Amino acid sequence: MSAIKLELTGKPKAKPVDETKLGFGNFFTDHMFMMNYDEGQGWHDARIVPYGPLALDPAAMVLHYGQEVFEGLKAYRTKDGRILLFRPDENFKRLNRSNKRLCIPEIDEGFALEALKELIRVEKDWIPSTPGTSLYIRPFIFATDAHLGVHPAHHYLFIIMLSPVGAYYPEGLDPVKIYVENNYVRAVKGGTGEAKTSGNYASSLKAQDEAEQQHFTQVLWLDGVERKYIEEVGTMNVFFKIAGEVVTPELQGSILPGITRKSSIELLRSWGEKVCERRLSIDELADAAAKGRLEEAFGTGTAAVISPIGQLIWGSDIIDINGGKIGPLSQKLYDALTAIQWGEAADPFGWSFEVK
Ligand SMILES: *Cc1c(COP(=O)(O)O)cnc(C)c1O
Repeated sequence: MSAIKLELTGKPKAKPVDETKLGFGNFFTDHMFMMNYDEGQGWHDARIVPYGPLALDPAAMVLHYGQEVFEGLKAYRTKDGRILLFRPDENFKRLNRSNKRLCIPEIDEGFALEALKELIRVEKDWIPSTPGTSLYIRPFIFATDAHLGVHPAHHYLFIIMLSPVGAYYPEGLDPVKIYVENNYVRAVKGGTGEAKTSGNYASSLKAQDEAEQQHFTQVLWLDGVERKYIEEVGTMNVFFKIAGEVVTPELQGSILPGITRKSSIELLRSWGEKVCERRLSIDELADAAAKGRLEEAFGTGTAAVISPIGQLIWGSDIIDINGGKIGPLSQKLYDALTAIQWGEAADPFGWSFEVK
């Protein structure tokens, strides 16, 4: 892999004026990073080009069999104007783990990070600065062969695109109502649940849609075999504080290994909190709640960082958590993670990567 070719647009777009109305995934910057893979040649033709539609053959394999992987991370603008990434090395590591599972050729993680930094330098004026806003980064790889046979493809495209996004909680952290899903499952051990791949999302839409119709924000996924053990909440990992101890489902093959999850565990332990990664059944959780031992619950993920859970609905049971308000540990974790991400606190773990 050689240098990155740069082709700048002659027609830059007008940037969104009102950063309080960005929302999520509505705007895209002027350029994207692209690189091709062709069997026999490897990854080649790294380039930054004007953002725009792709020409794909209608037989492109990704459109039929879903051979695709992706990542999601953010660039943050600090108060003094610096640009920070949060653990981007972890994202490219995970992208390669997803690649392996989906039979997609691995990328050079160091090169991908350099490509991302170069793209951000080109697009730095797109990073919003209103508190809570950031630049969402979406790296993804997909199969482009024009072929309808089912087998791993021989040709791929790797793209990184950027989208300025608004504050997730413009009015402060608001606990959500979650529906415990008994009918649909997200993933099973041996499937693709621990890879970040589009098919997992396609199969989750129905449950999410039905939950929203009943005015729940998201679903709590149970394991696909016994429908008993808690796995994730929506597209986030999930944590509970039970009788003073923090419990999160262990990574056993069907759970996506979140970087916010990993960071939360490391931070909590650094504060002397007891954190246990283990199997946790919905019955145990309901029992703890009934006995007044369920103190807090929250989801973790790049988009929301921490999403407090105020209520769980499990069949006819309604489980209220911390009176429907955010718990002190959830709030402390949110404050600590976001302070590191926006460069407002010391970074003792070396998680921040500055883009200069
Ligand atoms: C991306 C993702 C997460 C969260 O991962 P982060 O690295 O913390 O953003 C959790 N669950 C699913 C299913 C995901 O796709």
